[in-house]
Amino acid sequence: MTIPEPVFILGVPVHPLTYAHWLELVGQFISEREPRQICTANPEFVMMALRQPEFMRVLLNADLVLADGAGLLWAAKKQGTPLPERVTGSDGIYLLAERAAAAGWRLFLLGAALGVAERTASALVGRYPDLIISGVYAGSPQDADFANIAERVRSASPDILLVAYGAPKQDFWIARHRQELGVPVSIGVGGAFDHVVGVQRRAPAWLIRLNLEWLWRLITQPWRWRRQLDLPRFVWAVWRGRGR
Ligand code: UDP
Repeated sequence: MTIPEPVFILGVPVHPLTYAHWLELVGQFISEREPRQICTANPEFVMMALRQPEFMRVLLNADLVLADGAGLLWAAKKQGTPLPERVTGSDGIYLLAERAAAAGWRLFLLGAALGVAERTASALVGRYPDLIISGVYAGSPQDADFANIAERVRSASPDILLVAYGAPKQDFWIARHRQELGVPVSIGVGGAFDHVVGVQRRAPAWLIRLNLEWLWRLITQPWRWRRQLDLPRFVWAVWRGRGR
């Protein structure tokens, strides 16, 4: 199975994938055993990448950039290069765990607040009893913690490393360390563990359907407002046609 050519939104590559296609590619990456990086992007990622060339480079060098945010689907459609569906970290983690349980893929959960990764592991194993969680560690993206993390990850030999340090830290961290860690698939999953465990409640399905998940986040995590200013900026930039 080949990786489809990305669609470029304001210069940021986004791969046109369905969940099914994504899971097939994850399986392929695991059998190829090259350390691959997957990013779960949204409009905030795009605006960050426009401000920070190093972050743009991370996204350009990632093996897959998933359309996690609804705004990316809107922008892609507007520029005439539609994406098939959203592929989010928060829904994707369940599909990935289900497939991993069936295929015997080993997961390592890294990041989030103390205890959250453990509770995420219990919740996923409760749902998919055959799932192998080869390791769990909160750790931190600080350099000082890397040797310790590397030791834990290497001895657990996972097939998939889910990293929840928030964007862009998690994505920089994976880009920097993936070769050294040698895990076939590393994915930056943002707040996905928080959603599994219920530390953060995900938007109700009807709001997600209306593409208003951003509004839910603004209300439930108001401290993100400054970061969320990137949403109107993104809409404006796409309207002006800078994506063409
Ligand atoms: N986080 C962490 N270490 C850090 C910064 C963040 O473990 O130094 C975790 C945080 O606890 C949360 C996730 O990273 O579980 C970030 O979630 P958020 O919803 O902010 O993701 P984003 O939207 O930034 O990708």
